[in-house]
Amino acid sequence: MPELPEVETVRRGLQPAMEGARFVEVEARRLDLRFPLTKNFAGRLEGQIVRGLGRRAKYLLASLSSGDVLLMHLGMSGSFRVSYDGEDNAPGKFHHERSQNNGHDHIVFKMSSGATVTFNDPRRFGFMKILSADAVDTEPLLKSLGPEPLGNAFDAAMLAAACTGKKTSIKAALLDQTIVAGLGNIYVCEALHRAQISPKRMASVIASKTGKPNERTERLVASIRAVLQDAIKQGGSSLRDHRRTDGDLGYFQHHFRVYDREGEKCPTPGCRGTIKRIVQTGRSTFYCPVCQK
Ligand SMILES: [Zn+2]
Repeated sequence: MPELPEVETVRRGLQPAMEGARFVEVEARRLDLRFPLTKNFAGRLEGQIVRGLGRRAKYLLASLSSGDVLLMHLGMSGSFRVSYDGEDNAPGKFHHERSQNNGHDHIVFKMSSGATVTFNDPRRFGFMKILSADAVDTEPLLKSLGPEPLGNAFDAAMLAAACTGKKTSIKAALLDQTIVAGLGNIYVCEALHRAQISPKRMASVIASKTGKPNERTERLVASIRAVLQDAIKQGGSSLRDHRRTDGDLGYFQHHFRVYDREGEKCPTPGCRGTIKRIVQTGRSTFYCPVCQK
C-alpha cells in the first residue's frame, strides 16, 4: 500500500505533465476500478485544463478549469506512467514493484503538454472519481479525514486533545485517519521509533488528564514530520538521479530504521536493543523494546 510520501512523490512527478495542461484525449479502458468510473468520465475531462494538482492524505486532486475536481487514489497496486514520445517514467516507484503489464493500463490521459499519463492497476483497488466543485467538502472519502501531518493544523495541542482518554494503543491512534490523515503502518513504526515511544503505550500517554500536550507529544509530532519529510526528500532526490541515468523516475531507496528489520540491531546511537516484531490490530509493528519507552 503506497504511503503518503510515495503519493506526494507521485504528485510531484505528475505535476509537470499535468498542471497547466489540457486533457486532449481520455481513454477509459475499464469502467470498474474499486468503484465504477463517474458517468461520462472522458467527456467531463476532455478539453479541461488542470489548474492545480494537489494532495489530501493519500488522494490526488486535480482541479479543473470547469470547476470539477478529479479525485485519484492508487489503492494497493496502482501506479502512473508518464511518457513523452514513447519514453516512459514511473513517478513514485518506491520500494514497491510496479506492474509493467500493459494489460493493466486502465486509464490513459493524453495531455496538451505532450505527455501521455497512464494509470496501471493490476488489483484495481485504486480509483478515479470526478467531483463537482460543491461536492468536494461533502465527499465522504475526504470529509472525515484528520489534519495533514505536514500541515499547520497538525501540532502537539491538536494531537494531545485527540488522544485524551483514548483506550487504544498510540500506534492504533496514529493509524486512525480521523486523528491524522495519511499515516500508514510503515511511517507510524518509524515515527514512534524516532520519538522513542513504545507502540504498546496507550494513546492517552501523550496527553495530560486535561488534554494538554506533554514532552512526548512534542517529540512525536516532530518525529512524524521528520520521517515523512525525509522520505519525500529521498524520493525526490532519487527521482532526479534516476532521470539522469535510466529514466526510471522516483525509485525509492529509503532504508527504514525499524520497519521490516526484525532481529537487527537498533540504529539509535548508544542503544543495544534488537528490533522486535509484534502484531497489533492485525498489522506488524516493528520497534525497539529497549529505547522505545
Ligand atoms: Zn533501541
